[in-house]
Amino acid sequence: MKPIFLDHASTTPIDPTVATAMSEVLTGALGIGNASSDTHAYGRDAASAIEAARADVAALIGARAEDLIFTSGATESDNLAIVGVARGRADRGRHLVTSRTEHKAVLDPVHQLEKRGWQVSELEPGRDGRIDSATVAAALRPDTQLVSIMHANNETGVVQDIAAIAAVCRARDVFLHCDAAQSVGRLPIDVESLGVDLLSISAHKLYGPKGIGALWVSPRVRPWVEPLMWGGGHERGLRPGTLATHQIIGFGRAAARVREQRDSDARHVEALASRFRSGLAGVEGLRWNDHPVHRLPGLLSLSIEGVEGESLIAALPTIAVSSGAACDSTSGEPSYVLRAQGVPTELAQSTLRVAFGRFNTETEAIHASTVVREAVARLRAQDAPGSPAGEGWGMGEAGSLREGARIRCFVRLDTKQNITAIEFRAATCPGVWTVLDGLKRELVGRPAATPTLGGPRDWVRRFNLPTEKLGRLFRVEDALGAALKSAGEP
Ligand SMILES: *Cc1c(COP(=O)(O)O)cnc(C)c1O
Repeated sequence: MKPIFLDHASTTPIDPTVATAMSEVLTGALGIGNASSDTHAYGRDAASAIEAARADVAALIGARAEDLIFTSGATESDNLAIVGVARGRADRGRHLVTSRTEHKAVLDPVHQLEKRGWQVSELEPGRDGRIDSATVAAALRPDTQLVSIMHANNETGVVQDIAAIAAVCRARDVFLHCDAAQSVGRLPIDVESLGVDLLSISAHKLYGPKGIGALWVSPRVRPWVEPLMWGGGHERGLRPGTLATHQIIGFGRAAARVREQRDSDARHVEALASRFRSGLAGVEGLRWNDHPVHRLPGLLSLSIEGVEGESLIAALPTIAVSSGAACDSTSGEPSYVLRAQGVPTELAQSTLRVAFGRFNTETEAIHASTVVREAVARLRAQDAPGSPAGEGWGMGEAGSLREGARIRCFVRLDTKQNITAIEFRAATCPGVWTVLDGLKRELVGRPAATPTLGGPRDWVRRFNLPTEKLGRLFRVEDALGAALKSAGEP
C-alpha cells in the first residue's frame, strides 16, 4: 500500500480535470499544431488555446495576460528574473538583496552572480521567519538593482509582508522579484496590490503538471530583463522555444480550478492541519516552526526534541512527509531555513513538514497525528534515561543528537571477563541501529579484551552502511569501549 501523500509543498497531484484537459490536447487535433504557425488552423487553434490558458493563469494573480511569460517552472522563472535583470542592469550597478531563507532556485543564481562580481546582501529573518521591511530598507544602496524575497517559505509556510517590502523598494526605485511558487495556489494574490515587479509561479504546486511555470514581468521592468536563451523570439523575446501546448493548457485549467476552489481548499487544509496539530496535543518537546498568523494554510513544520531525524522518517512508513525541503533532505545537512530562524541544529535535524492538500481527508489527518505520536513515543523509549540493566553492569556513553548518534551501552561480564549480556539505549539512524543489533547478537560470549569485530571501518562493510555513517559509528565504538572498561573495573 502506498503511503498517504502529505507532501503538497514539494508538489501536488494533478487535478483530474487538469489531466482530462491535457489528454484531450495530446490525443486530439489541438496537440498537432505549433502555436507559432499562423498559416493553418492547427497552429492558430493551438495559439488561441494557449492564449486562453495564459488569461486563466494571469487572472489568478490579477495580471494582464500579455505580461505573463511561460517557462519550465519556478526554478527557471527565478533564474530569468534574477539573472535577466542583473544582466539588463549591470552597467547601472551590481548589488542585489535577498534573504537567507529563499529557495535554492533564488539563492543559487544569486551566488552565481556573486562569483561574477556582484555584491549580495543576504538578509537574516527574525525568529518568526519574517523579514522586516526596515531591514530591507537598510540594505538598499544606490547601486542596488534588484531585491528578491519569496512570498511564502517552502519549508515553514511563513508568509512575508511583500506589500510593505514592495513599498520600500518602490520608494527607492529598486525592482522587486517575488518567488510565489508556494503561495499562488493557496492564498489570494494580486500583483498590483502586492506591488512587485516580477513574480514566479509553478504549475505543479497548484494541481497542474510538472515542468511548466510562469514569470510575470511588469511593463515597468520589462525593458530591463535580458533573456537567458535565444532562438526565435517567443514569449516577447524572453523565452524562446515552441510552446508546450498540453502543459500550458493543463496549467490554465489548474489555475481556473484554483480560482474556483481556493477558499474552500484553504478551509479544508487548515481544518486538517488543526486536526493534526490537536492530535499531538500533550506530546512534550514539540516546536512548531510555522507562523501562528502569517502562514500558508495546511502547511505545518514541526521539530521534535530528543529524536533523530532519519529514524523519525523511517518510523513513519504510512505517511509521505518531508524532513525539511525536498531538495535538501539527501544532503544530511540540517535545513538552512530552520537554522536561519534560530532552530538549533539538533532540533532542526528532527523536523517534519506536513503539507495537506485538496484530496486529503480528515481520517488521513487523524491517522497522521496518531502515527507521529506513536513513533515519537517509540523512539524516545529506545533512548529512555536510566539503565535497562541492574547491578554489576558497565555503562559507557558517547555522542549527541547533534552528531546523529547519542549512544549508551550497557555490558555485563562473567568472572572470566567474557561478555554475557549487552544492551543499547540510543537515538540514532536506522543504519546505526542495525550495527547496534548486530553487536548485541555477536559480542555475547566473546572476551571483553578483544571483543569488537574490528572497528567502525569494518562495521561499515559488514553491515553495508554508507561511509557517511562512519562518524556515528565512532560514537558507538566510544560508548562500547567505555562500557567494557567500566564493566571490567572491580
Ligand atoms: C517548488 C518551488 C520552486 C521550484 O519550482 P519548480 O517549478 O519545481 O522549478 C521554487 N521556489 C519555491 C518557493 C518552491 O516552492
